[in-house]
Amino acid sequence: MIVGGGIAGLTLGYWLKHHGEQPTIIEQAAQRRDEGYGIDFSGSGWDVAQRMGILTELEGRQIQVESMVLKNSQGQTIVKQPLAPLREALPHPMLHLMRPELETVLADALPSDLPVHYATTIVRLEQYVEYVEVRFNGGRVEQFDLVIGADGIHSQTRQLVFGPESQFAQPLGYTFATFKIPKLADYGANATMLIEPQRQATIYPDRRGGFLMMLAYRSQQTQLPAPDQRKAMLQTEYRKAGWLVPQLIDSINHESAFYCDVISQIRMPRWSHGRVALVADAAHCLTLISGQGAATAMGGAYVLAEELAKTADHQAAFQAYEQRMRPFVDRKQAGARRVGLTFVPRTRLGVQLTRLMMRAAFSPRLARSIGKRIGFDSVLAMV
Ligand SMILES: Cc1cc2nc3c(=O)[nH]c(=O)nc-3n(C[C@H](O)[C@H](O)[C@H](O)COP(=O)(O)OP(=O)(O)OC[C@H]3O[C@@H](n4cnc5c(N)ncnc54)[C@H](O)[C@@H]3O)c2cc1C
Repeated sequence: MIVGGGIAGLTLGYWLKHHGEQPTIIEQAAQRRDEGYGIDFSGSGWDVAQRMGILTELEGRQIQVESMVLKNSQGQTIVKQPLAPLREALPHPMLHLMRPELETVLADALPSDLPVHYATTIVRLEQYVEYVEVRFNGGRVEQFDLVIGADGIHSQTRQLVFGPESQFAQPLGYTFATFKIPKLADYGANATMLIEPQRQATIYPDRRGGFLMMLAYRSQQTQLPAPDQRKAMLQTEYRKAGWLVPQLIDSINHESAFYCDVISQIRMPRWSHGRVALVADAAHCLTLISGQGAATAMGGAYVLAEELAKTADHQAAFQAYEQRMRPFVDRKQAGARRVGLTFVPRTRLGVQLTRLMMRAAFSPRLARSIGKRIGFDSVLAMV
């Protein structure tokens, strides 16, 4: 059984089925989501999507972001750079997608005899020598050979089998939020950023003519207030921010997609215990600072399915999966911790330096070297 019908869960379901298994996928959401945030998609995700034959479908859903625009606090444009040179300098092709669209394409790729059971979650999980016994919300109890937690950064499977999240979550010193915004100005087909000491805000288009905002600010929070308090928290943090940012935060509607979280890595000594294993964010959330979480989720799911198909010994398969994924994940997490030191500048001088770097980054030579550094590599190329 796969807990979580997100990026990793759907990919794992597809590949287990491909290898002749009959998995069950459960998902706590009441139905398929059609709202979310934008992601850059490349590397491992690209390679797995190619093997699933869904690349053309994904290419048709990409969002065109033409330039990177930097505003000052008065709303004046101080840098505008076309993104094409940076994109061309990447060692791997990259698509800009909305995460729910990736989820839709993955769900549509599942064979018809592999449904996702929505509005379903686990409340208890007990391991025996030959099976795992699971109690679902609603009270039903069933037995499974193996349980895979693909239930994201706040994994319930991890909580039930390995212990509380606080043991494994390592905050990187930031809080983020992302939400839909009204059109208070002509944002264009651009990623438009305001960077100030301690906080930043970015506006970007979705694929339906709408726009989203992403906020990231320095904070020592390890936990957020209750969901209905979060808009007020952002209003306080950004009350002195420039341009349109405070007005756009005022427009947050709790009813529509509004994600807000502490940016934390998940670091665990082991990703499996007995007949239960974790995959993707549940095992090793990389964070939006490194990016590549969705791509790595697909890579990890592919590798896990492949290892399970090689042997009837699930312990050996879990071990082989972890051995293949660990070096890649460790490298990405170490990279995110380094970038995290300067992800949002602390001071006015830091802001000036960031602006200079953004201007320089688009010279062809620097674009190539940055492209190499931020370019997504693929875990499938390592084995
Ligand atoms: C703002 C932001 C920007 C990002 N940008 C990028 C990017 O540019 N590139 C990139 O590759 N990645 C990016 N990521 C990361 C990426 O979205 C995640 O790493 C990826 O979605 C992880 O996949 P997953 O399957 O582990 O978890 P998810 O995709 O989160 O899926 C987990 C699923 O499990 C379900 N679930 C949770 N709990 C339960 C339960 N108890 N029972 C049943 N179901 C449950 C959830 O509803 C969800 O559907 C970004 C993330 C954020 C937040």
